[in-house]
Amino acid sequence: MIPVVDGHNDALLRVWRTGGSLRERSAEGQLDLPRMRDGGIAAGFFAVFVPAEDERPDYSASLRRTTDGYQIPLDPPLPAGRGEQIAEELAAIFARDLTPVLTVSDLERCVAGDEVGAILHLEGAEPIAPDLGNLESWRERGMRSLGLAWSRPNAFACGVPFCYPGTPDTGPGLTDAGHALVRACNELGIMVDLSHLTEAGFTDVARLSAAPLVVTHAAAHALTPIPRNLTDAQLDAVRDSGGLVGVFFDRTMTHPHAEIDADTSFEVLLDHVEHLAERMGVDHVALGSDYDGCTPVAAVGDASKVQTLFEGLAARGWPDDDLRALGHRNWLRVLGATWR
Ligand code: ZN
Repeated sequence: MIPVVDGHNDALLRVWRTGGSLRERSAEGQLDLPRMRDGGIAAGFFAVFVPAEDERPDYSASLRRTTDGYQIPLDPPLPAGRGEQIAEELAAIFARDLTPVLTVSDLERCVAGDEVGAILHLEGAEPIAPDLGNLESWRERGMRSLGLAWSRPNAFACGVPFCYPGTPDTGPGLTDAGHALVRACNELGIMVDLSHLTEAGFTDVARLSAAPLVVTHAAAHALTPIPRNLTDAQLDAVRDSGGLVGVFFDRTMTHPHAEIDADTSFEVLLDHVEHLAERMGVDHVALGSDYDGCTPVAAVGDASKVQTLFEGLAARGWPDDDLRALGHRNWLRVLGATWR
């Protein structure tokens, strides 16, 4: 098995909504510790993501057809106070069920097979006070990765809406508080995740950040032209910074026309991995499944099936060394240059 460091999952949100424990094999969802072990996932980024509603939203209700595709309007900002409150509940599930990865040596131990580790990630910075007053306390409790915005505006940045076709150039860049947050993350050695950001926000971080650029879960805009995917120019910026992109497994966001719940083939997912590797070099591509936050391509339908991806790439001629770079080595390098 190729040990995997997985750049993104929403398993905390699933357990927050449905109950249960990540320590036990669940019949629901896509990721828990037993299924991570089956799939060779040595460690994963576990998102603390605060949804607007307690219940799972029905985006088909707000989807509007256009002449050449569709649009789902951007979510409004979270109500004041909700970010802090729900983030506490999700972080409590993390602390109860998972073994935190705090350093690169922790991550190396996981990759060596000693235990399954978890990186505490904030998906959207709403739980952080705009004056950054609680940023260090989040770091002290184990947070090592922070996404500035999900697909909605907040005090720091703005994310992209979901539509097809579309580019990431959909809105404003970072606010003054967003600039300060990126600088503070650099100083504290917290990884900044550029997933969901507008192109203007991405460019602001690229200019500002001293760390390699990281997009934990996305795919190639050249193959699926939606705002959530990265243009070739953005891929070039990630490569030039020494960073990486984690490829997500979502069947809509990798489908050529971003069809909702399309029966996207395994080969199309592999095409995305290969596009990123051809554009940036294999040293800048990783995995960011988005398990429990997406509907994955069937061949990698849950965390127990991740090794299938390596089998598919090996069949396309990928040498073992490149598969190991994709699986975990690139994450170790980038986090080694970022965390302190
Ligand atoms: Zn996401």
